[in-house]
Amino acid sequence: MKLHFLGANRQVTGSRYCLEVAGKQVLVDCGMFQERKFQERNWDPCPLPAADIEAMLLTHAHIDHSGLIPRLVHAGFGGPIYATEPTVALADPLLRDAAQIQSEDVSYKQKRHTREGRRSPHAYEVLFTEDDVDRSLPLLRPCRYGDDIQVTPEVTARFFDAGHILGSAMIEVDATENGRTTRIVFSGDIGQKDKPIIRDPSLLNEADYIVMESTYGNRNHEQAGDTETQLAGVINDAVGRGGNVVIPTFAVERAQELIYHLGRLVHAGAIPQLPVFLDSPMAVDVTGIYLKFQSYCDEALLNMVNSNQPPLRFPTLTMVRTAEQSKQINNLKQPCVIMASSGMCNAGRIKHHLKHNIERPESTILFVGHQGEGTLGRQILDGRPRVRIHGQDFTVRAKISQIYGFSGHADHDGLVRWISHFKRPPRRVFLTHGEESVALVLAGEISQKLGYATQVPYYQEAVELTLA
Ligand SMILES: [Zn+2]
Repeated sequence: MKLHFLGANRQVTGSRYCLEVAGKQVLVDCGMFQERKFQERNWDPCPLPAADIEAMLLTHAHIDHSGLIPRLVHAGFGGPIYATEPTVALADPLLRDAAQIQSEDVSYKQKRHTREGRRSPHAYEVLFTEDDVDRSLPLLRPCRYGDDIQVTPEVTARFFDAGHILGSAMIEVDATENGRTTRIVFSGDIGQKDKPIIRDPSLLNEADYIVMESTYGNRNHEQAGDTETQLAGVINDAVGRGGNVVIPTFAVERAQELIYHLGRLVHAGAIPQLPVFLDSPMAVDVTGIYLKFQSYCDEALLNMVNSNQPPLRFPTLTMVRTAEQSKQINNLKQPCVIMASSGMCNAGRIKHHLKHNIERPESTILFVGHQGEGTLGRQILDGRPRVRIHGQDFTVRAKISQIYGFSGHADHDGLVRWISHFKRPPRRVFLTHGEESVALVLAGEISQKLGYATQVPYYQEAVELTLA
C-alpha cells in the first residue's frame, strides 16, 4: 500500500494525494496550486495517468482542493468523485468561476501583449474550459457525513464534518490489503471552533496514518475578541463620519458569516438600519446553497430558523447580481455597508467600490481576511499612501481597519487539540498544507510532545504504508 504526495507539500495549496491499494489508485482532492511560485505545476500532467485513477474523494469545494478536477477529467479521468452534498452543490459555482477567471485572464493578457507589441513565451491557454467543468460535475456523487462509502472493493471511506466551510470534511479511509486493514485519516482543512453557521470540527479517535494540514501550525490567531462587537464599532464609527464601510470578502463562508453577524447587529439595534449590499453574484449563489443545506449548519443557525427569524437575511440587506445594480450603489447618498469580492481585491467588483471610497476620509475599508503578498489588498493594508486600481493612481484617504478572528482555519492550539484526541499513537503523522518552515515546526512539536512519528513529505514523494 502506497501513499503518493502530489501537492500541498511544503507549501499551502494544490492538495492532492493518491492512495494505491491492491493495485488501484484512489485520489484524495485534486487542487489547484495558487502560490505564484508553484503555479507552473498546474500545467504539468497529473503525475499519475488520469485514466488509471479509479475514484476520487473530495474534502471540500475550495479551489485549492478541487480546482484541477476539470483538467483531470479532460485528461481522461472518468471515475466517481465522492463528496458531501453541500460540496457537490458548491463545486458548481466555484469551478465555473475558476474557468471564467482563466478565460478573462488569458484574453486580458493577450490584449496587453498586443498593445505592448510582444508575445508570451507560453501559449495563450487556459487550464480548463467551462466545457471541462460541464463534463466534471456529473461525476460528483453526493454523500452524507458518516455514510460508509465503498470506493473500491478494498477501500471504504467516511466523511466527518471538518468545520471549515459548509460541507467540508475530514475523511477516514479503511484500506484492506492482504487481509489487513489500515486506517488513514485525511484531515482536510480543519476549521476553527465556535464559528457561527457551521459546526465545530470533528474529533476522530483512531488512525494508523494521519495526513494533517498545518496552515497555522506555528501561531495562534491574534486574540479575536468579540468579532461582532468589533464589527459594530467599525460600522458605527464610519456612519458617524458619514462614510461607507467597504469590505473585501471571499464568496464562500466569509460572506455568509458577515451577513450572519450584520443581521444579528441590526436585530439587536447595535448598528443603525443602514443599507447593506452583498455585491458578488457568486457569493449570492453560495448564500443560496447555505440556505438550502441548513441541516448541515450549527445549532445557533437552526434555532434562528425554528424561531422564524430568517437566517442570512434581514430587511436592509440587498443581494446584488447585475452590474447595473452594482453601479447604482455608488449613487447612494447615505452611508452603507458594501461587501464585494474578490477577498484580496485583485479582481472583481470590489475594485470599483474601492475607487469610489478609497479617497474619501469618511469611508472605511475593512479587511476580514488574509491578504496575500503582492495583492492590492495587501498594499492597502500595509499602508501604501497611493495605490493603482484599473491603471489609475489613487491616494489612500479612507480609514483602514482590520478584524481578526474570521479565519476559517484552526490555529496552532486548535491543530494540537485535534491531533491530541487520537486514542492510540498513529504509526505516522504526515504534515502537509502549510509553508515548509511551519509544517516542520508543527511536526517537531507533535513528535516531541506526543511522541508520534512525523514526516513532512516532499512533492511527488511516495511512502509505503505498513502495519508491521
Ligand atoms: Zn479550504
